[in-house]
Amino acid sequence: MLKELLYKENYSVSEIETLLSLKDEEDIKQLQDRANEMLNQSIGDSVYYRGIVEFSNICSLDCYYCGIRKSNGEVGRYALSKDDIISSAKWCADQGYGSVVLQSGERSDENFVNFVEEVIREIKKETISEKLPRGVGITLSVGEHSKEVYSRFFKAGAHRYLLRIETTNEELYRELHPESQELNERKECLSFLRQSGFQVGTGVMIGIPGQTIEMLARDVLFFKEQDIDMIGMGPYLVHNQTPMAEKSQMDKDPLLQLSLNMIAVCRIVLKDINIAATTALQAVVPDGRERGLSYGANVTMPNITPTEVRSSYKLYEGKPCMDEGRQECKSCLLGRVHSIGRDVAFDQWGDSKHFALRTSRTENF
Ligand code: SF4
Repeated sequence: MLKELLYKENYSVSEIETLLSLKDEEDIKQLQDRANEMLNQSIGDSVYYRGIVEFSNICSLDCYYCGIRKSNGEVGRYALSKDDIISSAKWCADQGYGSVVLQSGERSDENFVNFVEEVIREIKKETISEKLPRGVGITLSVGEHSKEVYSRFFKAGAHRYLLRIETTNEELYRELHPESQELNERKECLSFLRQSGFQVGTGVMIGIPGQTIEMLARDVLFFKEQDIDMIGMGPYLVHNQTPMAEKSQMDKDPLLQLSLNMIAVCRIVLKDINIAATTALQAVVPDGRERGLSYGANVTMPNITPTEVRSSYKLYEGKPCMDEGRQECKSCLLGRVHSIGRDVAFDQWGDSKHFALRTSRTENF
């Protein structure tokens, strides 16, 4: 019965709910094996690095769960200089990390947009080498913007964009955000990104207070309907200086298993997309990222934010790797990947095969 379910071509909400709810050890093993089989068949088992630079924690929005929301007066604000960001990207390129992620709090003012645009252009120019003839691949994660702004970022040289939707359930979204932040606008931005030419990534938090398994199943089907190219999702973890802190949080063991089941189910249902094993998994258990990879993820993001400011980019409590230098992080992560019998594909962008197939742009494969 379970075997049949794991080999279906299309899934209903209730079938996805069944898979997400698996708890029995043997059943989970079957789910994990099927996810790995799908990974190997559809994209291969290489792991891709994206060095992540959290270049500013200044945010104009106020998500109720987030440690750097604008109303949190306890957090020291910072913004890295252009030179600091570019030198971080160059370090990545030198180490063989084929891609970077530039992430920050959300700002829509013209100064910010110009700054990001210039940084992208400079990084592309400065990281060209024999190994990376088109420079490092750039993923942006800087929030909601107009279609015109997204097109500017794309033309400057970024080609992947991560905009997490956090939940596709209207009522739950309302619980997580003030009135001024609307789910429909977030969805519209995902369309703008696609129209601008980006490989589009999104994702949700898992284990949000009030979230049901059915909501998560509908999130998976939303990714499918939207033909999403990349997923970055992780467990919901509380930050003590937020309005959500008074609500209870799922226990660690079930939270971890549900998060891993989500990764496996996304791999099985969405097949050839990129899926990140996020740092939040490592905040739940020390080997969380390896576990994410072993349930079908194929991307991981070493943190290359300068250590002086890293602790000020804390979206949730218990964020790991706050003090490790870049070099330490590189060898630690490589050991983690090797420990599960996988290898890192260095000097490659590691683009989403799903994007290549849906657009017939196969030049990176
Ligand atoms: S989740 Fe993102 S947009 Fe929301 S407050 Fe935090 S940094 Fe800002």
